[in-house]
Amino acid sequence: MTKYLLWIALAGIVFWLLRKSRAARSGEPRPPVEREVEGMVKCSYCGVNQPMSESILTAGRYYCCAAHRQAAEADSKVG
Ligand SMILES: [Zn+2]
Repeated sequence: MTKYLLWIALAGIVFWLLRKSRAARSGEPRPPVEREVEGMVKCSYCGVNQPMSESILTAGRYYCCAAHRQAAEADSKVG
């Protein structure tokens, strides 16, 4: 009985080690800087770069703040 349990534990450890080594080989850690740059967008009004999640998307254009979105809308109405 004790021998049986020992073999199960051993098999479990081997399986776990195989999975661990396979994951380490296939999964390369991505540099966080690249992801940050990927998510950066330019404000259509002032041209400042900032994360996409923090900017406002209106009619396919990004703005850094609501004030610039309104200003751009006002400009397009006048011009
Ligand atoms: Zn802006």
